[in-house]
Amino acid sequence: MRILNKIKCALGFHPSYMVLQQFSPGTRRIYCPHCMKDYAMNDYERISVPWDCSFQEFYEGLGHVIKPLPARKP
Ligand SMILES: [Zn+2]
Repeated sequence: MRILNKIKCALGFHPSYMVLQQFSPGTRRIYCPHCMKDYAMNDYERISVPWDCSFQEFYEGLGHVIKPLPARKP
């Protein structure tokens, strides 16, 4: 099952995720515990793309305070 989850993550269909921050009803930053990465998710565009510094700058420019990632388990 772990391999299946890896494939799903690679395709952008994360098996389960937690919402780190909600920016608007259709945009949020999510964290996938399977691939241990954070993503920008957009309902209107139906995409989830890796979170990077450009998203951070964009949302900080809108006045959001970007939270750090949850601590990884050892
Ligand atoms: Zn994932």
